[in-house]
Amino acid sequence: MKGEMKNGMLVERQKNINTVKCNSCKYAKKYDYGKKIFYCNNDRRKDDMGKLGIGELPEESPEWCSLREG
Ligand code: SF4
Repeated sequence: MKGEMKNGMLVERQKNINTVKCNSCKYAKKYDYGKKIFYCNNDRRKDDMGKLGIGELPEESPEWCSLREG
């Protein structure tokens, strides 16, 4: 019983990870310093720099994305 509950929560979290994408997120910002650099502008992010990628956004949100929870 307890194991099923745990598994259910795990499935929910996985679902959230799959739906959170930087390329459709309002917090993704692009800066052009000669080459395009993408940063996450979310105040709740857990990463100090918030760097997402150079040239293009990642397919999926990074581990530290605050939208991955709940
Ligand atoms: S890391 Fe998360 S909050 Fe930041 S831009 Fe990507 S999806 Fe949005």
